[in-house]
Amino acid sequence: MKARRLKRKMATRKKASRVQTVVVREKAPINYRVALPPGQRRLSFNDRWDYAPAPEASNYIKIKPRYQLFIGGKFVAPRSGKYFGSINPATEEKLAEIADANRHDVDLAVKSARRAYNNVWSKMPGRERGKYLYRIARLIQEKSRELAILETMDGGKTIKESRDIDLPLVAAHFFYYAGWCDKLQYAFPGRKARSLGVAGQIIPWNFPLLMAAWKLAPALACGNTCVLKPAETTSITAMHLAEIFQEAEMPEGVVNIITGAGETGRALVEHQNIDKIAFTGSTEVGKRILHSVAGTKKKLTLELGGKAANIIFEDAPIDQAVEGIISGIYFNQGHVCCAGSRLFVQEGVFAPVIRKLRDRIATLRVGNPLDKNTDIGAINSRMQLEKICELVDSGVKQGAKLIQPRLRLPAKGYWYPPSFFTGVTASHRIAQEEIFGPVLSVMTFRTPDEAIERANNTPYGLSAGVWTDKGSKIFKIVNKLRAGVVWANTYNKFDPTSPFGGYKESGFGREGGVHGLAGYLTLN
Ligand code: NDP
Repeated sequence: MKARRLKRKMATRKKASRVQTVVVREKAPINYRVALPPGQRRLSFNDRWDYAPAPEASNYIKIKPRYQLFIGGKFVAPRSGKYFGSINPATEEKLAEIADANRHDVDLAVKSARRAYNNVWSKMPGRERGKYLYRIARLIQEKSRELAILETMDGGKTIKESRDIDLPLVAAHFFYYAGWCDKLQYAFPGRKARSLGVAGQIIPWNFPLLMAAWKLAPALACGNTCVLKPAETTSITAMHLAEIFQEAEMPEGVVNIITGAGETGRALVEHQNIDKIAFTGSTEVGKRILHSVAGTKKKLTLELGGKAANIIFEDAPIDQAVEGIISGIYFNQGHVCCAGSRLFVQEGVFAPVIRKLRDRIATLRVGNPLDKNTDIGAINSRMQLEKICELVDSGVKQGAKLIQPRLRLPAKGYWYPPSFFTGVTASHRIAQEEIFGPVLSVMTFRTPDEAIERANNTPYGLSAGVWTDKGSKIFKIVNKLRAGVVWANTYNKFDPTSPFGGYKESGFGREGGVHGLAGYLTLN
């Protein structure tokens, strides 16, 4: 009897204690992850919380139905009489019509730039030119939110990047080069610096306003006048920049902006009365321009493609390195010439790096670029999306293993999920060709010498990254990498004071810093 009572009592206690345990867990769940050794911890946010939509308001942004050419300080209709549509790649909606300049229009722009050079800009003292550049920089700052929204709508890049990276850098470039206008004799001591004349400048679609600033600011600071051709898919912000030039009361014709496709660019390159061509774009078009300019008096700088190596050593801080991999390849949808698109991981840390990378890409938010929480926006055009898909297919066919997070992409617009390949060999197309999208090729190495050899095994030479906790190793490796820019324990950091440019098939000449002035001057 006693024993039965005791048994019942124990059973009730057991039940009570079980209930109690459940209650305690509900109040404060035990975080088993903390108990795991660092190497085995997993990163996962998806099952814990989600972000509420945070769209940037765009209903007050004024987009004109039609944008004309900017020649001689005025907006003028193209002699061609033709226009083409500019599409928002996130919605596939037509935003505006853009003037399509033909050879006649190009000629008018070049003549206008020549007049402005001869009559006004080349005669103006440097300190006066500087005032205009400062004024432009301040106006860009004033209108930066509006310009960032336009940049995002026209190009598909996320608002957090256009707002926090592109636009501040655009203004910073004008500020920086405004400071050089009256100090050119100090930039090149003992030499006499003279402006060249008229500069023809052609830019791509991945950083439309920033590329315009990289080209225009140093050219103007050195006393040249300009004819700028933006890329066909991203011309709108360049025309808003033209409005800023008007507002800053820039003398007529100092900057002319002609929109159009590749033919317009070709007409500019082939124009007889141009003194300098500055081109940023693909290596293929760069080679054509090199042929066309050869044998003429035109000065040339080329900023072309890249296939950068991002090298992770075993002694690197792995969590930070994984963040560097993310910003290296997924920043701006991977539409970055210096993107760290070939990842070399030292064998000993291959497994944890891949595990962390796989977890991390699952946390990236892909979608509406105007949402402030979005990490990866829209691919710039259908053509670019097709190029990415074709190269990814080739990677799968050649035997590499594709890793992508499971996510739902918007029904309309051009999208590609953050992806990476393992099992890549040096002969695969995805290890050699520029994908220019959010796709990474991962390879391994054993020794520092092997890392250097494999990193340099590319026709390109624009940029690279090195991750290690040893300063001496950084110096040793960096000196042997054939790349114009090498980041150590960071990636994709830009500053107007720092030169940027490539070796080999990534082009020649430097933009940014004092070096950026040299391309727009003759030095005697
Ligand atoms: P493209 O070379 O096709 O175009 C670049 C610019 O040149 C555009 O304005 C384009 O006009 C124009 N263009 C096209 N054909 C000709 C021609 N025959 N003569 C003169 N101009 C021409 O490159 P994408 O626009 O497709 O840009 C992507 C490429 O650019 C990538 O390969 C990337 O690596 C490279 N790039 C390099 C950078 C660097 O700093 N090194 C920076 C950014 C991009 P349209 O667009 O109207 O056809």
